[in-house]
Amino acid sequence: MLTEKNIAIVKATAPILAEKGEELTRYFYKRMFSHNPDVLKLFNPAHQSTGTQQKALAGAICAYAANIDNLEALTNAVEIITQKHVSLRILPEHYPIVGENLLESIKAVLGDAATEDIVEAWKEAYFFLADILIGKEENIYKAQENLIGGWRGFKNFRVIKKVKESDVITSFYLEPEDKSSLPVFYPGQFITVRVPSPASGTTMRNYSLSDKPNQKHFRISVKREASKNQGNPEGYVSNFLHNKIMEGNIVELAPPSGTFYIDTSQSYNRPLVLLAAGIGITPLLSMLLESLEKNPTRKIVLIYASLNENTQAFKHTLDNLCLVHNNLTVHYRYSRSETHGVKRQLSKSVSEGFVDMNLVLDLVESPNADFYFCGPKPFMLNLYHGLKRWKVPESQIHFEFFGPLEDLETSLETSESAN
Ligand code: FAD
Repeated sequence: MLTEKNIAIVKATAPILAEKGEELTRYFYKRMFSHNPDVLKLFNPAHQSTGTQQKALAGAICAYAANIDNLEALTNAVEIITQKHVSLRILPEHYPIVGENLLESIKAVLGDAATEDIVEAWKEAYFFLADILIGKEENIYKAQENLIGGWRGFKNFRVIKKVKESDVITSFYLEPEDKSSLPVFYPGQFITVRVPSPASGTTMRNYSLSDKPNQKHFRISVKREASKNQGNPEGYVSNFLHNKIMEGNIVELAPPSGTFYIDTSQSYNRPLVLLAAGIGITPLLSMLLESLEKNPTRKIVLIYASLNENTQAFKHTLDNLCLVHNNLTVHYRYSRSETHGVKRQLSKSVSEGFVDMNLVLDLVESPNADFYFCGPKPFMLNLYHGLKRWKVPESQIHFEFFGPLEDLETSLETSESAN
Protein backbone atom coordinates (compact mmCIF):
# COMPACT_ATOMS: atom_id res chain seq x y z
CA MET A 1 0.00 0.00 0.00
CA LEU A 2 1.07 3.58 -0.54
CA THR A 3 1.62 5.54 2.65
CA GLU A 4 -0.19 8.86 3.14
CA LYS A 5 3.17 10.56 3.50
CA ASN A 6 4.45 9.27 0.17
CA ILE A 7 1.18 10.04 -1.63
CA ALA A 8 1.53 13.65 -0.50
CA ILE A 9 5.18 13.82 -1.58
CA VAL A 10 4.50 12.36 -5.05
CA LYS A 11 1.57 14.72 -5.55
CA ALA A 12 3.71 17.68 -4.50
CA THR A 13 6.33 16.77 -7.14
CA ALA A 14 3.74 16.82 -9.99
CA PRO A 15 4.47 20.48 -10.97
CA ILE A 16 8.25 19.84 -11.06
CA LEU A 17 7.67 16.80 -13.23
CA ALA A 18 5.38 18.75 -15.53
CA GLU A 19 8.23 21.22 -16.02
CA LYS A 20 11.08 18.72 -16.29
CA GLY A 21 9.12 15.72 -17.63
CA GLU A 22 10.58 15.53 -21.12
CA GLU A 23 14.13 16.17 -19.92
CA LEU A 24 13.63 13.38 -17.38
CA THR A 25 12.25 10.87 -19.88
CA ARG A 26 14.92 11.68 -22.52
CA TYR A 27 17.56 10.99 -19.85
CA PHE A 28 15.68 7.88 -18.71
CA TYR A 29 15.50 6.20 -22.13
CA LYS A 30 19.15 7.02 -22.92
CA ARG A 31 20.25 5.58 -19.59
CA MET A 32 18.09 2.48 -19.86
CA PHE A 33 19.20 1.65 -23.41
CA SER A 34 22.86 1.99 -22.46
CA HIS A 35 22.58 0.05 -19.15
CA ASN A 36 20.01 -2.53 -20.34
CA PRO A 37 20.35 -2.86 -24.14
CA ASP A 38 18.23 -6.04 -24.02
CA VAL A 39 15.05 -3.98 -23.66
CA LEU A 40 15.73 -2.07 -26.92
CA LYS A 41 13.73 -4.65 -28.85
CA LEU A 42 10.61 -3.74 -26.86
CA PHE A 43 10.61 -0.17 -28.19
CA ASN A 44 10.11 1.39 -31.60
CA PRO A 45 13.28 3.36 -32.45
CA ALA A 46 11.26 5.72 -34.69
CA HIS A 47 9.24 6.92 -31.69
CA GLN A 48 12.51 7.56 -29.87
CA SER A 49 14.04 9.56 -32.73
CA THR A 50 10.96 11.69 -33.20
CA GLY A 51 10.61 12.28 -29.44
CA THR A 52 6.99 11.05 -29.26
CA GLN A 53 7.85 8.25 -26.81
CA GLN A 54 9.63 10.58 -24.40
CA LYS A 55 6.73 13.02 -24.55
CA ALA A 56 4.24 10.21 -24.03
CA LEU A 57 6.03 8.81 -20.98
CA ALA A 58 6.42 12.28 -19.47
CA GLY A 59 2.66 12.78 -19.84
CA ALA A 60 1.94 9.41 -18.23
CA ILE A 61 4.24 10.10 -15.25
CA CYS A 62 2.65 13.53 -14.69
CA ALA A 63 -0.85 12.00 -14.89
CA TYR A 64 0.14 9.39 -12.31
CA ALA A 65 1.61 11.99 -9.95
CA ALA A 66 -1.42 14.26 -10.28
CA ASN A 67 -3.92 11.44 -9.66
CA ILE A 68 -2.06 9.39 -7.09
CA ASP A 69 -4.72 10.21 -4.47
CA ASN A 70 -7.52 9.29 -6.90
CA LEU A 71 -6.40 6.24 -8.85
CA GLU A 72 -9.97 5.65 -10.09
CA ALA A 73 -9.32 8.47 -12.56
CA LEU A 74 -6.64 6.31 -14.18
CA THR A 75 -8.78 3.18 -14.66
CA ASN A 76 -9.22 3.66 -18.43
CA ALA A 77 -5.57 4.56 -18.91
CA VAL A 78 -4.47 1.46 -16.98
CA GLU A 79 -6.74 -0.72 -19.14
CA ILE A 80 -5.21 0.69 -22.34
CA ILE A 81 -1.63 0.51 -21.01
CA THR A 82 -1.96 -3.12 -19.91
CA GLN A 83 -3.36 -4.15 -23.31
CA LYS A 84 -0.49 -2.34 -25.01
CA HIS A 85 2.08 -3.91 -22.68
CA VAL A 86 0.67 -7.36 -23.35
CA SER A 87 0.78 -6.75 -27.09
CA LEU A 88 4.49 -5.96 -26.72
CA ARG A 89 5.14 -8.91 -24.38
CA ILE A 90 6.14 -6.77 -21.39
CA LEU A 91 6.92 -9.20 -18.56
CA PRO A 92 7.33 -8.89 -14.76
CA GLU A 93 11.14 -8.91 -15.07
CA HIS A 94 11.05 -5.71 -17.13
CA TYR A 95 9.54 -3.64 -14.30
CA PRO A 96 12.61 -3.52 -11.98
CA ILE A 97 14.73 -2.43 -14.98
CA VAL A 98 12.41 0.47 -15.72
CA GLY A 99 12.09 1.26 -11.97
CA GLU A 100 15.80 1.45 -11.34
CA ASN A 101 16.46 3.58 -14.42
CA LEU A 102 13.56 5.89 -13.60
CA LEU A 103 14.74 6.49 -10.03
CA GLU A 104 18.33 7.10 -11.14
CA SER A 105 17.03 9.52 -13.77
CA ILE A 106 14.96 11.41 -11.19
CA LYS A 107 18.12 11.80 -9.08
CA ALA A 108 20.20 12.93 -12.04
CA VAL A 109 17.70 15.37 -13.55
CA LEU A 110 16.27 16.91 -10.37
CA GLY A 111 19.73 17.10 -8.77
CA ASP A 112 19.63 18.50 -5.22
CA ALA A 113 15.83 18.82 -5.44
CA ALA A 114 15.61 14.98 -5.45
CA THR A 115 15.82 14.55 -1.68
CA GLU A 116 15.95 11.08 -0.15
CA ASP A 117 12.26 11.44 0.80
CA ILE A 118 11.27 12.25 -2.78
CA VAL A 119 13.22 9.34 -4.25
CA GLU A 120 11.79 6.97 -1.62
CA ALA A 121 8.24 8.18 -2.31
CA TRP A 122 8.68 7.67 -6.07
CA LYS A 123 10.15 4.23 -5.48
CA GLU A 124 7.11 3.22 -3.47
CA ALA A 125 4.73 4.78 -6.02
CA TYR A 126 6.46 3.14 -8.99
CA PHE A 127 6.50 -0.37 -7.54
CA PHE A 128 2.90 0.01 -6.32
CA LEU A 129 1.79 0.77 -9.89
CA ALA A 130 4.10 -1.94 -11.28
CA ASP A 131 2.38 -4.56 -9.08
CA ILE A 132 -1.05 -3.49 -10.33
CA LEU A 133 0.11 -3.65 -13.97
CA ILE A 134 1.90 -7.00 -13.55
CA GLY A 135 -1.25 -8.55 -12.02
CA LYS A 136 -3.57 -7.22 -14.70
CA GLU A 137 -1.19 -8.15 -17.51
CA GLU A 138 -0.90 -11.73 -16.26
CA ASN A 139 -4.72 -11.95 -16.29
CA ILE A 140 -4.76 -10.82 -19.93
CA TYR A 141 -1.97 -13.26 -20.91
CA LYS A 142 -3.93 -16.08 -19.26
CA ALA A 143 -7.20 -15.08 -20.92
CA GLN A 144 -5.52 -14.96 -24.36
CA GLU A 145 -3.93 -18.35 -23.79
CA ASN A 146 -7.15 -19.98 -22.57
CA LEU A 147 -9.25 -19.02 -25.59
CA ILE A 148 -9.89 -21.83 -28.08
CA GLY A 149 -7.00 -21.43 -30.52
CA GLY A 150 -5.31 -19.00 -28.12
CA TRP A 151 -1.64 -18.82 -27.28
CA ARG A 152 0.93 -16.95 -25.15
CA GLY A 153 3.97 -15.23 -26.60
CA PHE A 154 4.69 -15.41 -30.32
CA LYS A 155 3.47 -18.02 -32.75
CA ASN A 156 4.47 -18.73 -36.35
CA PHE A 157 1.97 -17.77 -39.04
CA ARG A 158 2.26 -18.42 -42.75
CA VAL A 159 1.36 -15.74 -45.28
CA ILE A 160 -1.15 -17.57 -47.46
CA LYS A 161 -2.08 -14.58 -49.63
CA LYS A 162 -0.68 -11.12 -50.26
CA VAL A 163 -3.05 -8.64 -51.95
CA LYS A 164 -2.23 -5.14 -53.16
CA GLU A 165 -5.13 -2.93 -52.02
CA SER A 166 -3.77 0.43 -53.27
CA ASP A 167 -0.47 2.06 -54.28
CA VAL A 168 0.54 2.14 -50.59
CA ILE A 169 -1.52 -0.55 -48.81
CA THR A 170 -1.06 -4.33 -49.05
CA SER A 171 -3.04 -6.99 -47.20
CA PHE A 172 -1.47 -10.12 -45.73
CA TYR A 173 -3.67 -13.16 -45.08
CA LEU A 174 -2.16 -15.23 -42.27
CA GLU A 175 -2.78 -18.78 -41.08
CA PRO A 176 -1.14 -20.59 -38.13
CA GLU A 177 1.80 -22.63 -39.41
CA ASP A 178 0.61 -25.56 -37.25
CA LYS A 179 -2.88 -25.30 -38.86
CA SER A 180 -4.51 -24.85 -35.42
CA SER A 181 -7.75 -22.90 -35.09
CA LEU A 182 -7.76 -19.16 -34.52
CA PRO A 183 -9.10 -17.42 -31.41
CA VAL A 184 -12.11 -15.18 -31.81
CA PHE A 185 -11.27 -11.48 -31.52
CA TYR A 186 -13.38 -8.36 -31.20
CA PRO A 187 -13.54 -6.35 -34.44
CA GLY A 188 -11.23 -3.35 -33.95
CA GLN A 189 -8.50 -5.26 -32.10
CA PHE A 190 -4.93 -5.60 -33.31
CA ILE A 191 -2.20 -8.23 -33.36
CA THR A 192 1.56 -7.75 -32.99
CA VAL A 193 4.01 -8.70 -35.73
CA ARG A 194 7.61 -9.47 -34.74
CA VAL A 195 10.29 -9.41 -37.43
CA PRO A 196 14.10 -9.63 -37.40
CA SER A 197 15.91 -6.33 -37.05
CA PRO A 198 19.64 -5.65 -37.43
CA ALA A 199 19.51 -2.96 -34.72
CA SER A 200 17.98 -4.99 -31.87
CA GLY A 201 17.62 -8.61 -33.02
CA THR A 202 13.87 -8.31 -33.41
CA THR A 203 11.34 -5.50 -33.51
CA MET A 204 7.54 -5.41 -33.11
CA ARG A 205 4.64 -3.39 -34.49
CA ASN A 206 0.90 -3.54 -33.94
CA TYR A 207 -1.46 -4.07 -36.89
CA SER A 208 -5.25 -3.95 -36.67
CA LEU A 209 -7.11 -6.98 -37.96
CA SER A 210 -8.90 -5.73 -41.06
CA ASP A 211 -11.17 -8.71 -41.71
CA LYS A 212 -14.03 -9.92 -39.54
CA PRO A 213 -13.51 -12.54 -36.80
CA ASN A 214 -14.31 -16.24 -37.19
CA GLN A 215 -12.38 -16.74 -40.41
CA LYS A 216 -9.73 -19.37 -41.11
CA HIS A 217 -7.21 -16.54 -41.45
CA PHE A 218 -6.21 -13.26 -39.85
CA ARG A 219 -5.83 -10.37 -42.27
CA ILE A 220 -3.70 -7.30 -41.71
CA SER A 221 -3.46 -4.44 -44.18
CA VAL A 222 -0.23 -2.51 -44.02
CA LYS A 223 0.61 0.92 -45.36
CA ARG A 224 4.14 1.29 -46.66
CA GLU A 225 5.64 4.14 -44.58
CA ALA A 226 7.86 6.34 -46.73
CA SER A 227 10.62 8.49 -45.29
CA LYS A 228 8.93 11.66 -44.00
CA ASN A 229 11.93 13.96 -44.45
CA GLN A 230 14.95 13.72 -46.67
CA GLY A 231 17.68 11.80 -44.90
CA ASN A 232 15.32 9.99 -42.50
CA PRO A 233 14.93 6.24 -42.94
CA GLU A 234 11.73 4.82 -44.37
CA GLY A 235 9.47 2.85 -42.01
CA TYR A 236 11.27 -0.37 -41.11
CA VAL A 237 8.57 -3.01 -40.52
CA SER A 238 6.03 -1.85 -43.11
CA ASN A 239 8.72 -1.89 -45.82
CA PHE A 240 10.06 -5.21 -44.54
CA LEU A 241 6.57 -6.71 -44.91
CA HIS A 242 5.93 -5.12 -48.32
CA ASN A 243 9.36 -5.95 -49.79
CA LYS A 244 10.63 -9.08 -48.04
CA ILE A 245 7.57 -11.07 -46.99
CA MET A 246 6.12 -13.14 -49.79
CA GLU A 247 3.31 -15.69 -49.96
CA GLY A 248 4.50 -18.85 -48.18
CA ASN A 249 6.81 -16.98 -45.76
CA ILE A 250 6.47 -17.16 -41.98
CA VAL A 251 5.98 -14.22 -39.60
CA GLU A 252 5.61 -14.28 -35.82
CA LEU A 253 2.39 -12.97 -34.29
CA ALA A 254 1.26 -12.23 -30.76
CA PRO A 255 -2.47 -12.67 -30.00
CA PRO A 256 -5.18 -10.04 -30.60
CA SER A 257 -5.33 -7.25 -28.01
CA GLY A 258 -6.79 -3.80 -27.57
CA THR A 259 -9.65 -1.89 -26.04
CA PHE A 260 -10.86 -0.21 -29.25
CA TYR A 261 -13.50 -2.64 -30.41
CA ILE A 262 -17.17 -3.18 -30.92
CA ASP A 263 -19.14 -5.93 -29.23
CA THR A 264 -21.64 -7.06 -31.86
CA SER A 265 -23.29 -9.55 -29.49
CA GLN A 266 -25.17 -6.59 -27.99
CA SER A 267 -28.23 -5.09 -29.62
CA TYR A 268 -28.04 -1.39 -30.41
CA ASN A 269 -30.76 1.20 -30.84
CA ARG A 270 -28.35 3.93 -31.96
CA PRO A 271 -26.67 4.27 -35.36
CA LEU A 272 -23.00 3.38 -35.77
CA VAL A 273 -20.74 6.02 -37.29
CA LEU A 274 -17.30 4.98 -38.54
CA LEU A 275 -14.84 7.71 -39.47
CA ALA A 276 -11.60 6.61 -41.11
CA ALA A 277 -8.69 8.47 -42.65
CA GLY A 278 -6.00 6.72 -44.67
CA ILE A 279 -4.78 3.48 -43.13
CA GLY A 280 -7.15 4.15 -40.19
CA ILE A 281 -9.72 2.24 -42.25
CA THR A 282 -8.38 -1.15 -41.05
CA PRO A 283 -10.03 -1.57 -37.61
CA LEU A 284 -13.18 0.16 -38.87
CA LEU A 285 -13.50 -2.19 -41.83
CA SER A 286 -13.45 -5.15 -39.44
CA MET A 287 -16.15 -3.45 -37.33
CA LEU A 288 -18.19 -2.71 -40.43
CA LEU A 289 -18.03 -6.26 -41.82
CA GLU A 290 -18.97 -7.81 -38.49
CA SER A 291 -21.71 -5.29 -37.69
CA LEU A 292 -23.39 -5.77 -41.08
CA GLU A 293 -23.57 -9.47 -40.35
CA LYS A 294 -24.47 -9.43 -36.66
CA ASN A 295 -26.58 -6.24 -36.43
CA PRO A 296 -28.19 -6.25 -39.90
CA THR A 297 -30.77 -3.56 -39.17
CA ARG A 298 -28.43 -1.13 -37.47
CA LYS A 299 -27.99 2.11 -39.43
CA ILE A 300 -24.30 2.54 -40.29
CA VAL A 301 -22.50 5.54 -41.77
CA LEU A 302 -18.88 5.20 -42.91
CA ILE A 303 -16.90 8.27 -43.91
CA TYR A 304 -13.58 7.28 -45.44
CA ALA A 305 -10.97 9.94 -46.17
CA SER A 306 -8.09 9.33 -48.60
CA LEU A 307 -5.58 11.51 -50.38
CA ASN A 308 -6.88 10.28 -53.72
CA GLU A 309 -8.04 7.12 -55.50
CA ASN A 310 -4.47 5.78 -55.77
CA THR A 311 -3.98 5.53 -52.03
CA GLN A 312 -7.51 4.39 -51.22
CA ALA A 313 -8.01 0.72 -50.31
CA PHE A 314 -11.08 -1.57 -50.25
CA LYS A 315 -13.25 0.65 -52.50
CA HIS A 316 -14.51 -2.32 -54.46
CA THR A 317 -15.47 -4.16 -51.22
CA LEU A 318 -17.22 -1.10 -49.83
CA ASP A 319 -19.11 -0.36 -53.04
CA ASN A 320 -20.34 -3.96 -53.10
CA LEU A 321 -21.44 -3.79 -49.46
CA CYS A 322 -23.49 -0.67 -50.25
CA LEU A 323 -25.28 -2.54 -53.03
CA VAL A 324 -26.30 -5.34 -50.66
CA HIS A 325 -27.00 -3.48 -47.38
CA ASN A 326 -29.47 -0.62 -47.50
CA ASN A 327 -28.75 0.22 -43.84
CA LEU A 328 -25.23 1.28 -44.90
CA THR A 329 -24.14 4.71 -46.18
CA VAL A 330 -20.55 5.12 -47.37
CA HIS A 331 -19.07 8.51 -48.16
CA TYR A 332 -15.63 8.90 -49.79
CA ARG A 333 -13.75 12.10 -49.08
CA TYR A 334 -10.64 13.03 -51.07
CA SER A 335 -8.19 15.72 -50.01
CA ARG A 336 -6.18 15.80 -53.27
CA SER A 337 -7.09 15.99 -56.92
CA GLU A 338 -7.99 12.88 -58.85
CA THR A 339 -5.33 10.72 -60.43
CA HIS A 340 -4.81 8.36 -63.36
CA GLY A 341 -6.50 11.04 -65.49
CA VAL A 342 -9.91 9.74 -64.40
CA LYS A 343 -12.37 12.57 -63.79
CA ARG A 344 -13.77 12.34 -60.28
CA GLN A 345 -17.56 12.48 -60.19
CA LEU A 346 -18.69 14.40 -57.11
CA SER A 347 -22.00 13.18 -55.69
CA LYS A 348 -23.88 12.51 -52.46
CA SER A 349 -21.32 9.82 -51.69
CA VAL A 350 -18.13 11.46 -53.02
CA SER A 351 -16.73 14.83 -52.02
CA GLU A 352 -13.46 16.71 -51.76
CA GLY A 353 -11.69 18.28 -48.80
CA PHE A 354 -10.80 17.13 -45.31
CA VAL A 355 -13.29 15.35 -43.07
CA ASP A 356 -14.83 18.02 -40.88
CA MET A 357 -17.88 18.38 -38.68
CA ASN A 358 -19.89 19.98 -41.51
CA LEU A 359 -19.61 16.72 -43.41
CA VAL A 360 -20.48 14.69 -40.30
CA LEU A 361 -23.54 16.89 -39.66
CA ASP A 362 -24.63 16.41 -43.30
CA LEU A 363 -24.50 12.63 -43.05
CA VAL A 364 -25.37 11.85 -39.43
CA GLU A 365 -28.81 12.82 -38.19
CA SER A 366 -28.19 13.20 -34.48
CA PRO A 367 -25.42 13.11 -31.88
CA ASN A 368 -27.14 10.05 -30.43
CA ALA A 369 -24.90 7.58 -32.26
CA ASP A 370 -21.78 5.55 -31.45
CA PHE A 371 -18.75 7.17 -33.08
CA TYR A 372 -15.56 5.22 -33.82
CA PHE A 373 -12.66 6.94 -35.53
CA CYS A 374 -9.07 6.29 -36.51
CA GLY A 375 -6.62 8.35 -38.56
CA PRO A 376 -3.79 10.88 -38.32
CA LYS A 377 -3.53 13.20 -35.33
CA PRO A 378 -5.09 16.39 -36.85
CA PHE A 379 -8.08 14.34 -38.07
CA MET A 380 -8.51 12.82 -34.60
CA LEU A 381 -8.23 16.12 -32.71
CA ASN A 382 -10.62 17.85 -35.05
CA LEU A 383 -13.25 15.13 -34.79
CA TYR A 384 -12.89 14.65 -31.06
CA HIS A 385 -13.50 18.35 -30.33
CA GLY A 386 -16.22 18.58 -32.98
CA LEU A 387 -18.13 15.62 -31.51
CA LYS A 388 -17.77 17.02 -27.99
CA ARG A 389 -19.10 20.39 -29.19
CA TRP A 390 -22.05 18.52 -30.76
CA LYS A 391 -22.68 17.12 -27.26
CA VAL A 392 -21.98 13.49 -28.15
CA PRO A 393 -21.59 11.78 -24.76
CA GLU A 394 -17.99 10.77 -23.96
CA SER A 395 -19.14 7.14 -23.61
CA GLN A 396 -20.17 7.16 -27.30
CA ILE A 397 -16.83 8.47 -28.58
CA HIS A 398 -14.22 5.77 -29.30
CA PHE A 399 -10.90 6.14 -31.07
CA GLU A 400 -7.69 4.34 -31.93
CA PHE A 401 -4.43 6.06 -32.71
CA PHE A 402 -1.63 4.34 -34.63
CA GLY A 403 1.14 6.16 -32.71
CA PRO A 404 1.85 6.25 -28.96
CA LEU A 405 -1.61 6.80 -27.46
CA GLU A 406 -0.34 8.95 -24.61
CA ASP A 407 1.04 11.32 -27.26
CA LEU A 408 -2.46 11.76 -28.69
CA GLU A 409 -3.95 12.14 -25.23
CA THR A 410 -1.47 14.88 -24.31
CA SER A 411 -2.46 16.68 -27.52
CA LEU A 412 -6.15 16.19 -26.72
CA GLU A 413 -5.69 17.75 -23.29
CA THR A 414 -3.61 20.64 -24.62
CA SER A 415 -6.06 21.36 -27.42
CA GLU A 416 -9.05 20.89 -25.09
CA SER A 417 -8.00 23.89 -23.04
CA ALA A 418 -7.75 25.91 -26.28
CA ASN A 419 -11.25 24.85 -27.45
P1 FAD B 1 8.90 3.01 -38.30
O1 FAD B 1 10.23 2.47 -38.56
O2 FAD B 1 8.27 2.81 -36.99
O3 FAD B 1 8.90 4.57 -38.67
C1 FAD B 1 7.71 5.35 -38.51
C2 FAD B 1 7.95 6.72 -39.19
O4 FAD B 1 9.04 7.36 -38.56
C3 FAD B 1 8.30 6.59 -40.67
O5 FAD B 1 7.64 7.62 -41.37
C4 FAD B 1 9.79 6.80 -40.73
O6 FAD B 1 10.17 7.42 -41.92
C5 FAD B 1 10.03 7.69 -39.51
N1 FAD B 1 11.35 7.40 -38.92
C6 FAD B 1 11.90 6.19 -38.69
N2 FAD B 1 13.11 6.33 -38.12
C7 FAD B 1 13.32 7.67 -38.01
C8 FAD B 1 14.41 8.45 -37.54
N3 FAD B 1 15.51 7.88 -37.07
N4 FAD B 1 14.27 9.80 -37.57
C9 FAD B 1 13.14 10.39 -38.05
N5 FAD B 1 12.09 9.68 -38.54
C10 FAD B 1 12.19 8.35 -38.51
N6 FAD B 1 -0.29 0.38 -39.59
C11 FAD B 1 -0.82 -0.12 -40.73
O7 FAD B 1 -0.24 0.04 -41.80
N7 FAD B 1 -1.99 -0.85 -40.69
C12 FAD B 1 -2.67 -1.07 -39.54
O8 FAD B 1 -3.71 -1.72 -39.53
C13 FAD B 1 -2.11 -0.57 -38.32
N8 FAD B 1 -2.73 -0.80 -37.13
C14 FAD B 1 -2.18 -0.29 -35.99
C15 FAD B 1 -2.82 -0.51 -34.78
C16 FAD B 1 -2.31 0.01 -33.61
C17 FAD B 1 -3.04 -0.20 -32.30
C18 FAD B 1 -1.11 0.75 -33.65
C19 FAD B 1 -0.53 1.33 -32.38
C20 FAD B 1 -0.45 0.97 -34.84
C21 FAD B 1 -0.98 0.45 -36.03
N9 FAD B 1 -0.34 0.65 -37.24
C22 FAD B 1 -0.89 0.16 -38.40
C23 FAD B 1 0.96 1.34 -37.33
C24 FAD B 1 2.09 0.30 -37.30
O9 FAD B 1 2.14 -0.29 -36.02
C25 FAD B 1 3.47 0.93 -37.56
O10 FAD B 1 3.64 2.02 -36.68
C26 FAD B 1 3.60 1.40 -38.99
O11 FAD B 1 3.50 0.29 -39.88
C27 FAD B 1 4.99 2.05 -39.19
O12 FAD B 1 5.96 1.12 -38.78
P2 FAD B 1 7.34 1.03 -39.57
O13 FAD B 1 8.21 0.10 -38.83
O14 FAD B 1 7.13 0.81 -41.00
O15 FAD B 1 7.88 2.52 -39.41
